[in-house]
Amino acid sequence: MRSVVIGGGIAGLLAARVLAERGPVVLVERDTGTGARRGAPQGRHLHGLLDRGRRIVEELHPGFTDELVAAGALTAEPLVQTRWFLHGRRLHPTRTGLRSVLASRPLIEDVLRRRSVVRVQEGSATGLELDAGRIAGVRLADGATLAADLVVDASGRASRLPDHFVELGLRAPREDRVDVGLGYATRTYRRLPHDLGGDLNVLVSTVPRSRGGGAMAVEGDRWLVTLAGLLGDHPPLDDIGFRAFAASLPAGPVGNIVAHGEPLDDPVPFRFRGSRHRRYDLHRCLPEGLVVVGDSVCSLNPLYAQGMTLAAQQVTALRAWDGRRTRDVNRTIGRLCTAAWKIATRADLALPEVGGYRPLPARVLDAYVTRVQRVGHADPAVARALIRVANLTDPSAALLHPRILGRVLRPGSDRVVPHEAPVGVPA
Ligand SMILES: Cc1cc2nc3c(=O)[nH]c(=O)nc-3n(C[C@H](O)[C@H](O)[C@H](O)COP(=O)(O)OP(=O)(O)OC[C@H]3O[C@@H](n4cnc5c(N)ncnc54)[C@H](O)[C@@H]3O)c2cc1C
Repeated sequence: MRSVVIGGGIAGLLAARVLAERGPVVLVERDTGTGARRGAPQGRHLHGLLDRGRRIVEELHPGFTDELVAAGALTAEPLVQTRWFLHGRRLHPTRTGLRSVLASRPLIEDVLRRRSVVRVQEGSATGLELDAGRIAGVRLADGATLAADLVVDASGRASRLPDHFVELGLRAPREDRVDVGLGYATRTYRRLPHDLGGDLNVLVSTVPRSRGGGAMAVEGDRWLVTLAGLLGDHPPLDDIGFRAFAASLPAGPVGNIVAHGEPLDDPVPFRFRGSRHRRYDLHRCLPEGLVVVGDSVCSLNPLYAQGMTLAAQQVTALRAWDGRRTRDVNRTIGRLCTAAWKIATRADLALPEVGGYRPLPARVLDAYVTRVQRVGHADPAVARALIRVANLTDPSAALLHPRILGRVLRPGSDRVVPHEAPVGVPA
């Protein structure tokens, strides 16, 4: 089977890796630069790789985590050397059995690219070729055509695939959207060993207000500090405004790093209008021979750090595909997107100003999850369950397990108590 993958971001690199098991692959990428590339401008901002995603990549590329660590990346348990604040209070520090990668996105991409075994063609895909209703190849900007039995679109959130459908006389896919008006500003700081008491990561959630942020230790003894504001409340890019925004977060550690740290560059912005799920899984006339992965099919509010992991899950579905109808694998990908979409958009819709339909069962569940978050401040078992769901390791239903349900609904379980640091957790 000859495959062409459009786009060499995380989704495209992983898709190319699994398709190479079935035959020759050409990966078409219009920006073959390294580091913080123009083709992936989000790469300058905080990118946490969740444990689930890390494990999938590790399966595809054994030794991936060690190679990242050898290049300067760090790893941490999500609730041990990471301080996670929700509603302004820290979730109880406890072991979760998970391991997150702390690295810049360019480093993650570079390690994957170094391990890639497929032919990379520099160029821009500008259209698709159809033959008897099947996708037969990809047209490039220089006029050339790459023939293929399978085309994977991994060209990211700005994918032109819906336009290519219209050019071919097909309907563009339905697009589900939840707009959040998110703005990021990111700056790097020198990291000293005693910063944050030796902890490596701090995340201040936008729950319950519209402002949040994070500071993550990355390669090169740096802190990557991202400030985030929803609904147009965007962090300023000037030094004074950036500091003031950091100081206004509902928990202190990010503001402390910004106030006392040595900045190594100027803040860079990113605007994200909202989550998008293009429903290729529901398209009645989806041509055979086409699979859509990564942000091209589903781009989620980045605050929940699911994108790379969701792409890895989709690629696992592609790997397991029986090679017959591509419609089937697009449907499986649609189901994976829907599961992640529910987690991300449900959290967004908790803000009353975010427009969207809130059916009664979802509102009841939201109230329950809010209580889970509050109980998680004091109860390590509940904090662990919450983080394992947020890491896409356990299904959302794990929060309704009788053992967790009992702890969450017990009267007074959400009262505020000081944390007792478990063994191995720095104070
Ligand atoms: C600000 C921000 C922060 C994020 N933080 C996180 C996080 O913490 N954790 C996480 O897991 N995810 C995060 N994400 C999401 C994550 O970046 C993506 O979900 C993930 O990298 C998968 O992206 P992709 O490979 O599908 O697309 P991209 O990374 O956008 O890659 C698409 C590639 O296709 C190329 N391309 C586009 N069009 C063409 C064409 N016509 N021809 C040839 N090449 C083309 C581009 O040059 C690019 O290299 C974040 C996203 C944003 C915006």
